[in-house]
Amino acid sequence: MGESSKNVHIIGAGLSGLAAAYELEKANIGYHLYEAADHPGGRVWTDEKDGFLLDRGFQVFLSSYPTARVSFRYEKLHLKPFQSGALVWNGKKLLPFYNALQHVEKAVSTLTSPLATLRDKLLVLKLLMHCARSKTVTPDTEGRSTLTFLKQFGFSDTIINSFFKPFFQGVFLEPDLKTDAGYFRFLYNRFSSGKACLPANGMRALPKELASRLQPDAITYHKALRQIESDSLLFEDGSTVPFQSLIVATDRGTARSLLPEAFSDNEQTTHNAYTLYFSFQGLPPVKERVLTLNSSGKGLINTICFPSQLAPSYAPQGHSLCSVGLHPSVMNDSESGLSVKDRAQQELAEIFGDEAKEWTFLAEYHIPHALPRYILGGETFCLPPHMRLAGDYTTHPSIEGALLSGKNAAGYFIKQFS
Ligand SMILES: Cc1cc2nc3c(=O)[nH]c(=O)nc-3n(C[C@H](O)[C@H](O)[C@H](O)COP(=O)(O)OP(=O)(O)OC[C@H]3O[C@@H](n4cnc5c(N)ncnc54)[C@H](O)[C@@H]3O)c2cc1C
Repeated sequence: MGESSKNVHIIGAGLSGLAAAYELEKANIGYHLYEAADHPGGRVWTDEKDGFLLDRGFQVFLSSYPTARVSFRYEKLHLKPFQSGALVWNGKKLLPFYNALQHVEKAVSTLTSPLATLRDKLLVLKLLMHCARSKTVTPDTEGRSTLTFLKQFGFSDTIINSFFKPFFQGVFLEPDLKTDAGYFRFLYNRFSSGKACLPANGMRALPKELASRLQPDAITYHKALRQIESDSLLFEDGSTVPFQSLIVATDRGTARSLLPEAFSDNEQTTHNAYTLYFSFQGLPPVKERVLTLNSSGKGLINTICFPSQLAPSYAPQGHSLCSVGLHPSVMNDSESGLSVKDRAQQELAEIFGDEAKEWTFLAEYHIPHALPRYILGGETFCLPPHMRLAGDYTTHPSIEGALLSGKNAAGYFIKQFS
């Protein structure tokens, strides 16, 4: 692609960089992506091991994400939805907890569930209506955390501890639901107005689909940027490329080291994710296509899911895949002398029976900077007019936030060039 004043260089082919490129492609503006890794997707990718598909940390795609709806051709993703609800492990047994509005056949079990008081069940309906207005992320006007908001809304400790805490700990990747209530309301609205899904071929289907919408030679892989000079980019391989317009679509830590003067806040708070994968022959011990939540208040496990139950291509025929999300505070395996994997497998056996002791351990993904902390109202950056930042840390920490940030950064140049 020749150098022209209407040509945007994009650093990073994660979802934000890909979304920026796709916007420029549609606007017929020249662009090129430089990606350090050998594939697109950044934090959204899937490895293959022994015929199993292992997402790099358990993630779900919400079909009702507004920017995603216009970025992806859903028919290419072959989305496999979860049922709306959860199985809750209370330390003694697994109790179903469904969204009765989406699963009328489960209404009786939901209404009689001991996981919530009658008042809680009515408040869930009120919350659905309350959150229906939250179509975009707007910070809570009183600056409340999710936990404070839920308590002030009137929910009992019973439903908070049995459902909201384990579920949203797994979403926010932080243990105390300190995340802003405005972001919670947006996500609650998205969960209730659409489906949480896995693409049939793993989460990598998302970046692959976006990359397939770009020119075939749009991305140069194995091309890590080392330094931004006044009018050229210096790469780790020693090459330099002149530029006039630039979008830095990396994670926040890398962006800050490339453009330190753009960031006024030196703090870098991120949340880590820890996922273990096990495999076994035969069908999973539960029939429901839902997440299992650990609300017992004990143990390492926060959530459990059997991806192959939703999407059979996640496991070879006749086998199942179990994905175990550990509690956000689990960092090391020092507590009992047993490894994290052994302790988690012991807990799986308590929940599903001794057969879980025979499951084969496949892999672990410990991702230290999985999500940036959501910053109320967004961070402000000091950038020259020919540079923009994209990435989930500039909007909100999600697939939707990453796509939106790419769209915004590209929109800036589209406007500038028109
Ligand atoms: C374990 C986990 C679970 C998650 N769960 C969910 C979920 O369930 N639902 C949801 O909506 N979101 C979830 N997320 C969040 C979502 O995946 C991210 O918000 C999103 O993928 C971030 O995209 P991004 O483009 O902003 O950044 P990244 O994906 O980090 O992309 C940045 C890209 O820049 C490249 N790069 C970095 N430095 C350089 C350099 N110097 N030169 C060139 N290239 C460079 C990187 O290789 C990468 O490809 C989860 C994330 C993780 C990790």
